[in-house]
Amino acid sequence: MRNIRYDGGHPAKRTFQAVRIAVNEEIANIEPAVDSVVRILNPGGRLVAISFHSIEDRVIKKAFVKFEKGCLCPADFPVCVCNNKPEAKVITRKPVYPGKEELAANSRSASAKMRVLEKL
Ligand SMILES: [Zn+2]
Repeated sequence: MRNIRYDGGHPAKRTFQAVRIAVNEEIANIEPAVDSVVRILNPGGRLVAISFHSIEDRVIKKAFVKFEKGCLCPADFPVCVCNNKPEAKVITRKPVYPGKEELAANSRSASAKMRVLEKL
């Protein structure tokens, strides 16, 4: 049986998290950080991102998907002129959540979502 306190955490937790995210401009820094890491990865190298907020997860998901895109030409172009190639592939179609053991040992993992990207 889970302690009710751990389900949502302390009531002030979400407020402090929102203030921290805003003050540090954490959302705005996610995509440039992902871009920087993908640039320096070797082929086959993986970027593992763990987020603790749904907005962060959404930004990470979008930042990852961008690297999977090949051709960026308009759909009505008869042939590709952009020569854009996919740079990475997303390993995790859906985010990976903590398992029961992790949750039992580490209640703070409850809101964690993990996504993995592999450089091509
Ligand atoms: Zn193209």
